[in-house]
Amino acid sequence: MTVWNPWHGCRKLSPGCANCYVYRRDESIGKDASVVAKTGDFALPLKKDRQGRYKLTPDEGVVYSCMTSDFFLDAADGWRQECWDMIRLRQDLHFFIITKRIDRFAQCIPSDWKDGWDNVTICSTCEDQERADYRLPILLDLPIRHREVICEPMLGEINMEKYLASGLIEHVTCGGESGDNARPCDFRWIQEVRRECVRNGIPFTFKQTGAVFIKDGRVYRIDRKLQMSQAKKSGYSYVPGMGTADAIRYRTPDRQTLFAGLRKSDFRSRFRLSDKDRAYAEEKGADVIRSHARRFVAERLSAENPENDGKQTPMKGHPVFTAQHATACCCRSCLEKWHNIPSGKVLTDREQSYIVDVVMDWINTELQADTHK
Ligand code: SF4
Ligand SMILES: [Zn+2]
Repeated sequence: MTVWNPWHGCRKLSPGCANCYVYRRDESIGKDASVVAKTGDFALPLKKDRQGRYKLTPDEGVVYSCMTSDFFLDAADGWRQECWDMIRLRQDLHFFIITKRIDRFAQCIPSDWKDGWDNVTICSTCEDQERADYRLPILLDLPIRHREVICEPMLGEINMEKYLASGLIEHVTCGGESGDNARPCDFRWIQEVRRECVRNGIPFTFKQTGAVFIKDGRVYRIDRKLQMSQAKKSGYSYVPGMGTADAIRYRTPDRQTLFAGLRKSDFRSRFRLSDKDRAYAEEKGADVIRSHARRFVAERLSAENPENDGKQTPMKGHPVFTAQHATACCCRSCLEKWHNIPSGKVLTDREQSYIVDVVMDWINTELQADTHK
């Protein structure tokens, strides 16, 4: 990876900018980050060494461009064309441009841009739902060959499934905020976006926890040095089909805690075995019902990204279906939220047996309960 900063300095635009690292770093050396100026590296992509070879080579990977400003900042309108000229010339390099100003893109592209250049990835950031709903439709509409999304600092829950379903977004990255005034990042927000990526077969990176990280309702202060390594260690980055989630360590809740929680949920506790379910279960016997449960779990839940996930379990028609809804074993989202079983992995035999046991426990309890309470 290489960094090319043609200019330095920026103007704050949206909530994600509040603790901007460019401002923080400049302040620490008494510099005003709102002053936008060309840097000595402006022409870096064209710079050559004594042997006449380009200093930037494809071997060093992607060129992260304009990392101490925003490429589409209006203060840089007079300089951008020259940058495009350099990008056009260096087809051998891949330029990665992260922006909060995707709405300025259309007025900032060169005349020969057509449907985009293959050596440019445009990455729109969105820190919350409002920014996602404003920026992502613009990102999808524009002529761009490679699109990515970054939610960092992530400041709230973001649902972006409808944008991901377009098939036009190649990668999503999420992370918390660092620094003394960091705002909290809840692991549930990260998991939600990750699940959406899994369902849509899109690679996902959990980049960093940030300094204030919430997990299972508890607030943790994470040392700067550990913010990236902890995220990496969690295993929650995802590459489709690579078994990346197999290494995630988690613990399923004990049965008592789980069933107490389910009883407290209005939605889950509403499920009861119907007379028909009950008669069917009694007629077939526990072994047959268990074998059905095993088959449903294997066929409908166990794949890394099950077909129709979220809708694969009918609301009625078999005692196991009812039990799956009652115990939150109905889809991979519910399995992650209630049982901590990560989505985006093929379920092991052990995980499948656990689910079957939970379902059967619930059915047995129901069968033993007085029908006409
Ligand atoms: S757009 Fe980026 S670089 Fe500019 S102020 Fe906001 S966070 Fe900082
Ligand atoms: Zn579900």
